[in-house]
Amino acid sequence: MIISKSAKAALLLILLSLAACTAMPLIVQMGAGGQNNTDSDMPALENWLETEHFVLRWTNHSRHLKDNIADPAIIEETSRYLEIAWNKYVDMFGRKPYTAPGHDKVLVVFRDIDCYGLADPPDGPIQFNSCAWVKKPGIRQPTSAHELFHKIQYAFGYKTQWRPEKPYLWFTEGTAAWSEVFVWGRVSRTCKVDTIFRNTKLDLYEADDMAMPFWIYFVGGNSEKPNNQLMVKLLEKCEALKDVKKALLEVIQETYGPPDKFFAAFAKERKNGFWSDECSVPYSCILGPDGNDMVDKVKSYQKKAGNG
Ligand SMILES: [Zn+2]
Repeated sequence: MIISKSAKAALLLILLSLAACTAMPLIVQMGAGGQNNTDSDMPALENWLETEHFVLRWTNHSRHLKDNIADPAIIEETSRYLEIAWNKYVDMFGRKPYTAPGHDKVLVVFRDIDCYGLADPPDGPIQFNSCAWVKKPGIRQPTSAHELFHKIQYAFGYKTQWRPEKPYLWFTEGTAAWSEVFVWGRVSRTCKVDTIFRNTKLDLYEADDMAMPFWIYFVGGNSEKPNNQLMVKLLEKCEALKDVKKALLEVIQETYGPPDKFFAAFAKERKNGFWSDECSVPYSCILGPDGNDMVDKVKSYQKKAGNG
């Protein structure tokens, strides 16, 4: 379907008034046409939407039907989520997400990829899975925050100045999963919250994005006053030391005392105490993509483990 000029103008007006009345980031421009790309797998993305910090591109004309998004409101909604995450990160981390040299905005493309989102390599665009984006609205908030957080990691030198030794996904994917909870209190896949409690023998360093609860524990996110600044400290130390484990041990030592004790306490609480507190703590509720609270699920695992 080709959108006529007047329909496009009307849509832009609606979007602008939406942005104005909800005090959301203003859309700079929206349009169609004029995209060249060098990646042969990339469909021609004829539509674009420019906001304060992002340029979002998508298609509804790909012969590969899974690339297509027909409803521009989905893109507009995503752009708002990205701007909210951007502002939260800049406030917390004191620096902007990494942008490719010569660019001050992040390019975001929608097409058929084999995961929900991708932000690799650092100079490349953020990519979102068009089909999943249309079918699973519940992933839009967490996945957009997650991919943008990888750009924060790049801003602290990960992959741009230093590379961690394997295994490192418990850190890179684990902290990006933490950012989903930090920004939205919601994750894109339930396994990120419950696996580590369901399988208490799962090695933290092999847990990839399912290490997420460790990072909540690290910032005291299941207590009355989480110390999210610890995540800032950690990334600053990673940048200075170019070594994730060293950086983490230093932050733990400075904040909590001996790291061995800290890890032992986490291992224990993972079995029977984590999130057992009934009081209203900041991360007392974490939604899955379907909108169900995952924390209650975790508590039920722990009760079973505690009783058994
Ligand atoms: Zn990721």
